[in-house]
Amino acid sequence: MRISLVSMPWQSIRLPSLPVALLHARLTEDRPGDTVAEYHGYLRWAEFLLESSAGSVTPADYMSVADDGVFHGLGDWVFSGVLYDDPDWRADVLDDYARRYGVDVEVARRARSHAGRFVEIAVDEILATGPEVVGFTSTFMQNVPSLAAARRLKERAPHVIVVMGGGNCDGSMGHVLHRNHPFVDYVVRGEGELAFPELLRSIEAGVRPVDVPGVCWWRGEESVANPQAPRAVPPDVIPRPDFDGWQLALDASGMTDHLEPELVLEGARGCWWGEKHQCTFCGLNGSSIEFRSRPAERMWSDLRHLVARHRILDVIMVDNIIDMAYFRDLLPRLAEADWDLRIHYEVKANLQPEQVELLAAAGVMCVQPGIESLSRRVLGLMNKGTTGVINLRTLRECENRGITASWNYLYGFPGETADDYDPIIDQLPALAHLQPPGSVSRLLLERFSPYFDRPELGFRERRPAEMYEHVYDLPERELHDMVYFFDSPPQGIGADTARRLHAAVERWQRDHSRSSLIARDGSGDALVIEDSRAGRPQREHVLTGWRAAAYRALERGRDARSLVDALAAAGHERSPADVEDWLAEQVAYGLLFVDDGVHVALATSGAPRKAGGPLTESLKIFPHVRLPFTFPWWRFEHEPPAATPEQSEPRVQV
Ligand code: SF4
Repeated sequence: MRISLVSMPWQSIRLPSLPVALLHARLTEDRPGDTVAEYHGYLRWAEFLLESSAGSVTPADYMSVADDGVFHGLGDWVFSGVLYDDPDWRADVLDDYARRYGVDVEVARRARSHAGRFVEIAVDEILATGPEVVGFTSTFMQNVPSLAAARRLKERAPHVIVVMGGGNCDGSMGHVLHRNHPFVDYVVRGEGELAFPELLRSIEAGVRPVDVPGVCWWRGEESVANPQAPRAVPPDVIPRPDFDGWQLALDASGMTDHLEPELVLEGARGCWWGEKHQCTFCGLNGSSIEFRSRPAERMWSDLRHLVARHRILDVIMVDNIIDMAYFRDLLPRLAEADWDLRIHYEVKANLQPEQVELLAAAGVMCVQPGIESLSRRVLGLMNKGTTGVINLRTLRECENRGITASWNYLYGFPGETADDYDPIIDQLPALAHLQPPGSVSRLLLERFSPYFDRPELGFRERRPAEMYEHVYDLPERELHDMVYFFDSPPQGIGADTARRLHAAVERWQRDHSRSSLIARDGSGDALVIEDSRAGRPQREHVLTGWRAAAYRALERGRDARSLVDALAAAGHERSPADVEDWLAEQVAYGLLFVDDGVHVALATSGAPRKAGGPLTESLKIFPHVRLPFTFPWWRFEHEPPAATPEQSEPRVQV
């Protein structure tokens, strides 16, 4: 069989398409007689835009739509005029939306004028390889570009079989997509490593895929959706991705002058934490949260092979959460290999300082620790399994080890109150030397999250997010089962508290690059803390005797009672009143952070390496990568598209 695997805009142009690379490798193993071509439509689109706009729509503009447009549906809107055969389709609706929410749509508008011509070229190029089956992988804003190309392809070559899969097809979303788009012959819902080859066998045999799990197919004019597989794909079925096709496409494109390519790998799928305590807001794992991890030995060999083959040292791991066994079996080997890798990893925030040290030694330059909040009570409401103090400690240790920590501040959890936020907001100026959140935003209701599945948790009213009105020409009842983000009345804190939180975080972002708070050993047992945080007088704090011992004992975080005991064990008998007075004084100096009675030391151990401004830029480098036929969701996640106008809260654009 001749098969073409297609990845359309708007995935990151810095990265290969992991779904295409994995499925290609899987087909090579499972169906060695097939001819598999790849079409990297996202690279071609960026190249085409640059040429056809005479340089006015640059690869950086592409990335601005890819990164910033996802919560406004901008990338989909660019191609919706092609899908619906009307270049002006809902341009007025987008204009109104953009005006009300202050969204810049100029690049999207310019790009849209080239979309029709590009789809024709893309279809020419896909058909040039003579495919019998064309498979589109779709996640986030790849839906409308893929549908537009699929529709045109089917018009021009009705004999070619069109298949769609990817994160946008998980669960009910895939069935709605199928039944509303008759030019799509099959949709694969759920992971594709087993289902896609099985579907190809049915097509080859000329039989209906009645037994292929998760597949949607046509019985006459009726769209039939097979139940998804009850078990997740085991890790030994997931092959090493084959990036050779991407490398060829990248080298042949004009994009190499405009970007630094990165590799993308996955060590694990699902979430070991979420299997038992899924965070209430998290829809990251789609319909399959079961945690599966690649054995460390295979991960090591994949990394070694791919880094050497492609001579690329930047590696983005798309796991939703790192396998803790890797701290024992993989990271020490990477540290020993000393390859100068620059790895990005998602981790849980409750890391021990030794684990942060190991990550740094292994070449992990950036983590996304899923911090979300600095309040123990709010973190409890979201089932995060961490506390504000532990999160702060992780931020401090990342600063100590030169690791960029990308995170967002989330609010809007049912049950939270201003009392949970006020003490945190008051302390944010003391955190100026630590890495600020890239954004602060009210949480957005996501399909597959506990908040979505269990309305009794607080989000009873919901409707498809407003952005979908300028993306799809579908009735609301269909959108309800097809889209990922939902609007719902705000929960938790009100607009006043939210506004103060935004203002404090904006100040933090502004002050970070010119702030430091560094502790060093002085003479004898003294501890010297140099305070150069923006907005405070520069000064030096010298702690001696039991006070120095107390500060050192607070590196991991303790309450007053535990600190009294620790001091006594170290030969410093102090009364609880003495210790409590001292703690209050240190909090007032901003040398300690306190949450729910637990204190943690804020000073770092060395001169920090600053990223040069708020972490927005570092967040931007992380791509829209998705696993094949699953719905993992990277974590500049959870940034709501838009507050509803009534909320009138400040909005931060990433
Ligand atoms: S937010 Fe992270 S830790 Fe929580 S369930 Fe989702 S993937 Fe797991």
